[in-house]
Amino acid sequence: MKKLLLVIAAFCSFQYCFAYGTTGHRVVAEIAQRHLSRHAKKELKKLIGDQQLAFWANWPDFIKSDTTGKWKSASKWHYVDLPGGLSKEQFVTDLKGLSGENLYTQIPAMEAQLKDKSLSLEQRQTALYFLIHLVGDLHQPLHVGRDEDQGGNKIKVSWFGKPTNLHAVWDESLVDYQQYSYMEYATVLDIVDKNQEKSWIESPLEDWFYESHVLSDKVYDKTPDGSKLSYGYNYLFVNDLNEELAKGGLRLAKILNEIL
Ligand SMILES: [Zn+2]
Repeated sequence: MKKLLLVIAAFCSFQYCFAYGTTGHRVVAEIAQRHLSRHAKKELKKLIGDQQLAFWANWPDFIKSDTTGKWKSASKWHYVDLPGGLSKEQFVTDLKGLSGENLYTQIPAMEAQLKDKSLSLEQRQTALYFLIHLVGDLHQPLHVGRDEDQGGNKIKVSWFGKPTNLHAVWDESLVDYQQYSYMEYATVLDIVDKNQEKSWIESPLEDWFYESHVLSDKVYDKTPDGSKLSYGYNYLFVNDLNEELAKGGLRLAKILNEIL
């Protein structure tokens, strides 16, 4: 058992895991599914038939294991790295000034491709799969984290005694700790009142990024290297986690209802 844990720990330190785990992404997708307009549902049917959004939510992570090199450039699409503690104005300036493809450039890029009916079915499907996934990533605060620790990947912590890193805690451990299936989790979170929903979905994309930045500042502040995390950490952050998942789902629905 000890040997196995060591192997897992070694594997995790080489393989940085850049995404909400499978459950988190599916919760976001499922909440979105429940808020689609009739028209968007009809258009989605042309793209993915009777398949659910949740089915495709993790595909952009799965293709990281593709060995042909076809998806190599897409590995940078899942996150942005910026310095911590920025004012909103500075944050937005820095976000817009980032070079190359990243989470901030690719959400609008995927929206444009999904919208463009002159593209092939396959291209539009791919854009949809990325959009479902990337809106989820945007709501994992450490996907809007800091460069020096690779979004928390280099911050070693333990979760109920098991060695892991801060990024992985937010990708998976905290979500899995809630012990819901993704369907159950979507159900318990999908009770946001209309005014709250409106204020979440009508703000601009830059605000969504800034909210993740502010939350990531809190996460960094409360989780220094070497932290031993368990019940208290869940208590501290479970409301933030739930809000992020709900926001992600409602905002994904808003995007799909708008462009389909
Ligand atoms: Zn991802």
